[in-house]
Amino acid sequence: MSSSSQFGHSRIGRYARQLDAGIGWLRFQGDMEREYALQIDRDERRPAMVGAVFSLAFIILFGISDFVRLPLVARFPDLTADMWGILTSRWVAVLFLLGCLYICHRQGGASRAAPLSVAAVLTLAVSGAVSVCLYKRNHLGHAEFAQLLFVMGAFSPLGLRFRHSIALATGVVVLTFSLRYWLLPAELREQQFNAMLLLTLIFSAVGGYLRERAHREQFLLRGILKEQALRDPLTGLANRRGLDEQLEIIRQQARRENVPVGLLLLDVDFFKRYNDRYGHQAGDLALQRVAACLDAFARRPLDMACRMGGEEFALVLYDCGVTSLKDRADALCPDVQGLCIDHATSDICAFVTVSIGGVLLQPQETAWSALDRADQLLYEAKREGRNRTSVERVLPVAAVA
Ligand code: GH3
Ligand code: MG
Ligand code: MG
Repeated sequence: MSSSSQFGHSRIGRYARQLDAGIGWLRFQGDMEREYALQIDRDERRPAMVGAVFSLAFIILFGISDFVRLPLVARFPDLTADMWGILTSRWVAVLFLLGCLYICHRQGGASRAAPLSVAAVLTLAVSGAVSVCLYKRNHLGHAEFAQLLFVMGAFSPLGLRFRHSIALATGVVVLTFSLRYWLLPAELREQQFNAMLLLTLIFSAVGGYLRERAHREQFLLRGILKEQALRDPLTGLANRRGLDEQLEIIRQQARRENVPVGLLLLDVDFFKRYNDRYGHQAGDLALQRVAACLDAFARRPLDMACRMGGEEFALVLYDCGVTSLKDRADALCPDVQGLCIDHATSDICAFVTVSIGGVLLQPQETAWSALDRADQLLYEAKREGRNRTSVERVLPVAAVA
């Protein structure tokens, strides 16, 4: 995920924007839909496995009951084709479910959970429908309405999104109807059952829709909470925690692409005096304007502006060498001054100004160490008179080589 997608240059986060846009159609915009699909995969993998184990236990129980109800052992030599049909459908489903469980367990299931769930539900539905029809055709006791469970099953937590569950449940209904028409004579196909199957589909779909809507809403609210924890409420920029989290991603990307990353640390000059003279509220407004000016410098997706706390800010510039870093820092100072925020009690200028320290991240150093070096340069700029920059001229080790 890029810096801009997480922290954006707007004060409203992307999760809040999506919540505003609505979730009625059960589809998020852009990358968020993929992120949601991964979340479902993670959340529903365990319930799907529990469901598979229970289904397996039930189908084995039914399989065992076949031995009693069909007196299989006694009739083994002259078993009819129908009896073989019942046995095959039952035990193929058992083997298939065992296979699904094994694959999910071995591979973590992340990308295969959904297709395996679809295949498992379809296999169970076919196996159930075949056994019921063949029992019915041979005038043996059967539990026809158990087939409704397979339609409901398509909407249980199996790692599927609603539209996939609808397609799956419709597939189950079509298969059940087809098998009944193929295997049962007309007088045994009760219309009451067909109507129940369709009604079950409709009721389960409504429940499934509401469940996914609530789940999506929860996903967005969790995203908003996370965004808020990483964002500074006054300026809308990332906060220190956001910087720490994102800087690691930026550094890894820079290492892969072998490009330098620049870090500028800014501090507003004589800001205590500003507050004393104009009041805290005016101080807040001034910080917001400085932040917006800084944000305009974080133009590319992996650039990042951040409020470190108080009147201190940081700017991370991706793919930015020494010269470029110095140029950007030198451009920032006059731009902040150019905001023309009156500062009558500043010793150096009639307007609010900033001092800046800048370094290039070394490949192996921690973010903390880079910030420390930038801080020392910032105080050098302060000592030298403020409203100026002090940028380190040392190249990162990899760049020198
Ligand atoms: P220097 O030029 O050396 O940086 O002096 P300074 O006055 O800017 O630095 P100092 O650390 O003495 O004061 C920082 C001031 O920033 C103190 C505090 O009143 C103000 N400040 C910190 N956070 C906020 C805030 O959220 N809103 C407002 N309005 N002021 C803040
Ligand atoms: Mg300060
Ligand atoms: Mg200051």
